This record gives sequence, structure tokens and C-alpha cells, in this order.
Amino acid sequence: PPDVESLGRATWSFLHTTAAYYPERPTARQRAHMLSLIHALPVLYPCSHCAGDFDEDVKGNPPDVSSRGALSRWLCERHNAVNEKLGKTRFDCAIESTDARWKDGPAD
Ligand code: FAD
Repeated sequence: PPDVESLGRATWSFLHTTAAYYPERPTARQRAHMLSLIHALPVLYPCSHCAGDFDEDVKGNPPDVSSRGALSRWLCERHNAVNEKLGKTRFDCAIESTDARWKDGPAD
């Protein structure tokens, strides 16, 4: 089975970085593909309990793919829901904080 911790770090890194560089004004095509990417996770993510809980969370909190800022915040909040479940500290979801970590700042 996959290492759920490394898989999680890699997946969050991909998702947050992709959100940080997502356009301020995405085209209809970019929005549609971002929605597909998000909605593919509950179907394909190779940690079934992670995928199931994520599916429930996304159903209650539909993705906002309208802009870079909206998507970055939405994703940060979804990650915080997982952090909370695992007893990890919450992350500040202001764009300055997500950009400092995922756009401007150095990687881990
Ligand atoms: P991670 O949580 O992987 O975070 C990596 C880095 O992201 C942190 O060091 C920090 O710099 C930054 N960060 C932290 N929070 C935020 C935030 N809210 N917004 C932006 N950046 C942030 N693991 C389980 O055990 N059970 C699960 O049910 C589960 N579900 C998951 C669902 C999904 C969709 C994903 C992608 C992962 C899931 N994981 C789950 C894995 C889990 O979230 C962590 O990735 C893993 O436990 C490793 O944690 P970590 O402490 O190294 O940091």
C-alpha cells in the first residue's frame, strides 16, 4: 500500500502549487479542467478512507475555481479540514500566507 504521509505531502504540494499559479481570470477550459482534477481525487486517490472523507467534505463545500485567490483559499480550507481530523495545526488561509508557502516561498 502507498505511504499515506508521503503521498499526502506530495499531493498537497502539487495541488497548492497548482492553485498558487492558477490564473486570476481562468478561461472556461481552465476552470473545467480544474473541476475535473478536484473531482477525480475522490475516485482515484489511492487511500480509500482519505478519498471517502475528502468526497464528503467537497460535497458540502463545492470548489470555487473562479480565480487564483478563490481556489487557493478553498483548497487551504479543505487541507485544514484534514489537519483538524488528524490533530494537526490549522494553516492561515489568507492569500499572503498561501502565497508565501506555495508561490513565493521556498519549498520544504
Ligand atoms: P501536510 O499536511 O502534508 O502539509 C504539507 C505542508 O503544507 C505543511 O508542511 C505546510 O507547510 C503546508 N500546509 C499545511 N496546511 C495547509 C493548508 N491548510 N493550506 C496550505 N498549506 C498547508 N492522511 C490521513 O492520515 N488520513 C486522511 O484521511 C487523509 N486524507 C487526505 C486527503 C487528501 C485529499 C490529501 C491530499 C491527503 C490526505 N492525508 C490524509 C494526508 C495528510 O493530509 C498529510 O499529507 C500527511 O499526514 C502528512 O502530513 P504533514 O504533517 O507532513 O503535512
